[in-house]
Amino acid sequence: MPGQLRAGAVVVDITPALGVANGGVIARGGPVTRIHDELHARCLMLDDGAIRLAIAICDMRMLGGDVVARAKSLAGKATGLAPEYILIAATHTHAAPAIVGIHPEPRDRAYAEFVARRIADGITRAGHHLAPARVGWGFGSAPQHVHNRRWFMKPGAVVANPFGGTSDKVKMNPPRGADLLEPVGLVDPQVSVLDVRHADGRPLALLANYGLHYVGGYQAGHVSADYFGLFANRVQDLLDADRQHPPFVAMMSNGTSGDVSNNDFRIKPERLPAWVKMQRVANDIAGEVAEVIGDIEHSNAATLAVAAIELQLGVRRPDAARLVWARHTLANDTDPQRLTRPEIYAQEALALATFPPKVPVVLQAFRVGELRIMTVPCEMFAETGLALKKKARPAPVFIIELANGYRGYLPTPRQHEWGGYETWPARSSYLEEQAAPKISAAMLGLLKKL
Ligand SMILES: [Zn+2]
Repeated sequence: MPGQLRAGAVVVDITPALGVANGGVIARGGPVTRIHDELHARCLMLDDGAIRLAIAICDMRMLGGDVVARAKSLAGKATGLAPEYILIAATHTHAAPAIVGIHPEPRDRAYAEFVARRIADGITRAGHHLAPARVGWGFGSAPQHVHNRRWFMKPGAVVANPFGGTSDKVKMNPPRGADLLEPVGLVDPQVSVLDVRHADGRPLALLANYGLHYVGGYQAGHVSADYFGLFANRVQDLLDADRQHPPFVAMMSNGTSGDVSNNDFRIKPERLPAWVKMQRVANDIAGEVAEVIGDIEHSNAATLAVAAIELQLGVRRPDAARLVWARHTLANDTDPQRLTRPEIYAQEALALATFPPKVPVVLQAFRVGELRIMTVPCEMFAETGLALKKKARPAPVFIIELANGYRGYLPTPRQHEWGGYETWPARSSYLEEQAAPKISAAMLGLLKKL
């Protein structure tokens, strides 16, 4: 019925079996040995009578484009939703597998298929729960948990990059001390909330967004959803939301946090037992969200809109000299368990050499009432996200990164010049140096379409 919003939400378990590889592209991990807390895909469907869309936020380090495509295809068959009406994003918890199928990437195919099917089920089952709903949105702030992790260092304090070059001016996650000058970039302290209620006012679901890469403080081999999962539990308690049928569903999506850490590099790090810090952050952000929700006005007449675009962006493939260096670096017998940093990046160079010259990059935007939700498949820097929010004014906007595939870090051209980990060519950073401005321009174009 037009003019009457409906919503449905569901949580599905996507925890890997013990033994599945727990790691990412650069950060290789051993097998999963223990589960600290389970991984979930948290799914929301909205329907305004004319348009229906779905959002799935998944406790994964990253989700490759092929896994996302598989999940969207299965969900599409069951629900009739076209791919651009489905948003699938990873939270970026680092205590979870990365299922990224890009080129030579060892991964567990059975687990990837399991995750795709579970996400599709979650979206489909969210549709089974569609019921009259009201939505509202609001914004809070939590500056205490976000710190830029890239620092300018005193001359001589930045050592050679993995390729032997000495032109880097920036160090990621620097040690505390006298060599620190200042952070290179910004942080976005905003906490954004889309709140969904049943017609009678009971909490139905909420989608939050905060630009924090992850918290960490894990034990080796353990699986955890990091603060993203703990947030969902905590906010459910704070809102006194029901766990019975249909259960309330909270989800925390990652904002633009490619260069953002939870650690303040100026001060001596507090020594905490494992798992403590993420709980602290989760409790704080859940408290902020609960406060924001108190001021939100909900409406059952919000309309929906969807826009999407696929860009073709260049890949920073290795040149001939880099390939010679890579083969030379790997010429000696390397121990795959104990790779040096140059050996890791030499392997990455050989992997990037197999990439096509250009790759598709999917950008998507949803409008829910006045709220705009934009997505990028990269780890976008906070300054890029802040600039987009500013240009979108007065429209309320938040940006979900690591959505609809995985295309690595997205430094700005200036950040590329300054160097540092996020710019080093690898399967975690390979888009052309002009990718950030091109993506930003395309995202603003999508906003206009909404
Ligand atoms: Zn990352």
